[in-house]
Amino acid sequence: MKTYKTTGIAIKSLRLGEADKIITFLTAGGKVSAVAKGIRRTSSKFGGRLEPGNDLELVLARGRALDTVTQVSIKKARPWLWNDLDKLEVAFAILELADKLTPEAVEGDRLLELTAAALDRLEVELRLPLLLLAFDIKALAMTGFLPYFSACVTCGGKTGLNQIGQAEGGVICDNCFSGQRSVKVGKEAKELVRQLLGVRLLNLDSVMTHTGIINEVRRIVWEHVMYHVHADFRARTGAGTSGR
Ligand SMILES: [Zn+2]
Repeated sequence: MKTYKTTGIAIKSLRLGEADKIITFLTAGGKVSAVAKGIRRTSSKFGGRLEPGNDLELVLARGRALDTVTQVSIKKARPWLWNDLDKLEVAFAILELADKLTPEAVEGDRLLELTAAALDRLEVELRLPLLLLAFDIKALAMTGFLPYFSACVTCGGKTGLNQIGQAEGGVICDNCFSGQRSVKVGKEAKELVRQLLGVRLLNLDSVMTHTGIINEVRRIVWEHVMYHVHADFRARTGAGTSGR
């Protein structure tokens, strides 16, 4: 059996048969799914180590259809996650977006790094909706799914950028706008996107904004995601969207 080592974070799991699970990991090499045999037995050698949210070192055995987890150790645990339901919700929303944005076996090291950084920041962050939005914007920018905010996608103009064309994938200036499907975008919303793209998550305290603008940007960004990423985002219903 050919084995290989990798590092990653468990992002979701699916029950398989009586005692097994298929676990999907975000790894430096992209997304990988592997079977964890016997994990649902109380005597499992994996214990709780494969729960989502831990940074893991993994040894996987290549299989014809699916790989198998043979060894796992924790590089970094985040046990505090499980003591705070609001934070756990945000963590699942982060992991879900990482999952949906990453096709199998594509280079994922930057997204893995960002995901780990967002989970770390979650421990101390008080503005959960802002952290989740910052993660979303960075993750979407990395994978090409963030709407283009800097110039009109039709003429390249930099003034009168008040709409985001849904099909166009970015801002449209007032001259080019002709009533196509779009969402309005305000000046402060564009400024918040610019700030979030430029700030490191551990310096998120430096971003001054308020709930109304966070909500506006989230609405704009998620209209875009729902239009362009064809996936069911279950973890999004409540996480980090309560406007605190
Ligand atoms: Zn234009």
